[in-house]
Order: sequence, then structure tokens, then C-alpha cells
Amino acid sequence: AKEKGRNTFQLYTSALNERAVRRMTMEGELRKALERGDIQPWFQPRVGLRNGSVVGSEALARWIKPDGTVISPGEFIPLAEETGLILPLGEQILEQACRRVRAFQDAGFPEQYVSVNLSPRQFRQKDLVGMVERVLQRTGFDSRLLELEITESSLVQDIDQTMATLRRLREMGLAVAIDDFGTGYSSLAYLKHFPLGALKIDQSFIRGIPTDPSDIAITTTIISMAQSLNLKVIAEGVETLQQLNFILGLRCDEYQGYYFSKPLPPEAYLELLRQRKL
Ligand code: C2E
Ligand code: CA
Ligand code: CA
Ligand code: CA
Repeated sequence: AKEKGRNTFQLYTSALNERAVRRMTMEGELRKALERGDIQPWFQPRVGLRNGSVVGSEALARWIKPDGTVISPGEFIPLAEETGLILPLGEQILEQACRRVRAFQDAGFPEQYVSVNLSPRQFRQKDLVGMVERVLQRTGFDSRLLELEITESSLVQDIDQTMATLRRLREMGLAVAIDDFGTGYSSLAYLKHFPLGALKIDQSFIRGIPTDPSDIAITTTIISMAQSLNLKVIAEGVETLQQLNFILGLRCDEYQGYYFSKPLPPEAYLELLRQRKL
């Protein structure tokens, strides 16, 4: 039994080592990818429910390996967040997103806006507002066409700092949206104190529509209360016509989801805008 115990221990430590080694390798690769500019934003269309037009997009990070393999953010954003690489990475994605969308604007779609994700660590970074300001300057991007998405956990960490940051972003003309709304701990009543622009209903609630009564109740409540707080409401993860019809009936403002389109590389996104203009 003693022998067996030792073997198990060895197995355990070598598995740990393997994980640590993989992590370090991945961290090194992530650094290189960052230097080479291999991490780029793709764009998922956001559709206005009033007239069905593509009003803007959400920028979603993709790691494009030299051999063309595309890696999802779920596989590298958490590591970037842990290591702090998310700060230079986030700035690069924001800058790329502004450059690309500026090009869409110049190509005949002057009202196209873009929404960019900020992780909690990014939202807490020392000079977030200054960083955003400099990116806008470098890219010549109109701040009124930029939205930042933060999660409820970012909101509730340090209320005073959150309030100050949100106020300064608002003064610059930017909109801030609460992402994955309904999955965190903040209440709608509490939200009214923050200068926010929009709420995004988390896809887990949309998934249950039209069959799950509690998802229907939650979605309906979020939309009606957001309206009374004068916040724009976006439904994400819309995959079926039934889901689309349901939120249309509730007068949600915009939606995004596979039903309309997956996230697209910039060239394909511009092509989609052009096709729909014809
Ligand atoms: P998120 O911000 O909640 O983004 C929505 C995710 O849902 C995206 O996954 C999108 O591709 C996916 N999605 C959109 N429509 C549908 C649908 O109809 N059905 C389903 N099943 N999924 C849909 P993605 O691109 O893999 O991103 C995952 C997460 O990674 C994002 O979740 C966000 O939290 C994070 N992320 C992505 N890009 C960035 C970034 O540039 N910076 C930061 N900090 N985080 C990012
Ligand atoms: Ca998001
Ligand atoms: Ca989301
Ligand atoms: Ca999410």
C-alpha cells in the first residue's frame, strides 16, 4: 500500500508539473503572438430590431496562428487575465477594433459603431481613461461610436472608483454596457446609480426561450426595467427565429447571435455590410 501511495504521489506531482509547463509554454506563445500582432478582433453584427439593419458590431478577440488555425478567446483570455498580459493585449485589440471599424466607416458606413470587451483587470487598470483617449486619438475614432462592455463583477468591486471611471468615460462620449447581465450579483435598482448606456441580456436566458418559463420571466423583466431606466437593451445568443420573434415582441433594441451571423473576420464583415446595402 505504501508503494502504491508513493506512485500516486509521483503521478500527481508529474501531472502538476505538466500543467505548469503547459501554462508557461502557452504564456510564452501568447507573448510572441502579442508582439507579432497575431491576436485580432473579429466582428459579430448587431442588428437593430426596429428596421433590421446592421447598426454595429461586437469586437471579439481571435488568435490567428501562423498556420491559419483560429483560437477562441476562452482559451487565452483567462491566462492573459491571470498574467497581466491582458493589459497590452486589451489595448492592442481596442486599437485594432477602432482602426478596422474606422475603415468600415470610411468605406460608406459612417454610423457603424463597435463594442469592445473589457475584463475586470482592464477596467481596474490605473490609467484606463487615458489609454482609451490615446487610442481614440491615434485612430481618429469618434468616441460616440465606441461602446465598452464590462461585467457586473467589474461594477461592484470598488464603487467609488467605478463611478469615477464611468463618469469620465461618459464625459468623453463613450457608452458602457453591462455584459452577461443577470448572471452576477447586481440588481437593477442598484444599476440606476451608474452612468451606463446599455444592458446585454446573457445568452443563458435567451437559450431557454420560448420554452422555459423562468427564462421568459427573467428576459421580460430585464427588458422592461432597462427601458424604464432608459438603457438600451441587447439580446445576445439569439439562435432561432422563435427567439428573435419573442424579443421583437418585447421591444428589445438590438440583438446579436448565430441566427443572423457568427463573428466574422473584418473583410467578411465589410462584405456583409456591402451586400445588405445593395
Ligand atoms: P462575451 O463577451 O459574452 O461574447 C459573446 C460570446 O458568445 C462570443 O464568444 C460569441 O462568439 C458567442 N456567441 C455569439 N452569438 C452566439 C450564439 O448565437 N450562440 C452561441 N452559442 N454563442 C454565441 P467568443 O468570441 O468565443 O468569446 C468568449 C468570451 O471571451 C467573451 O464572451 C468575452 O468574455 C471574452 N472575450 C472575447 N474577446 C475579448 C476581448 O477582446 N477582451 C476581453 N477582455 N475579453 C474578450
Ligand atoms: Ca461581450
Ligand atoms: Ca456576453
Ligand atoms: Ca460571457
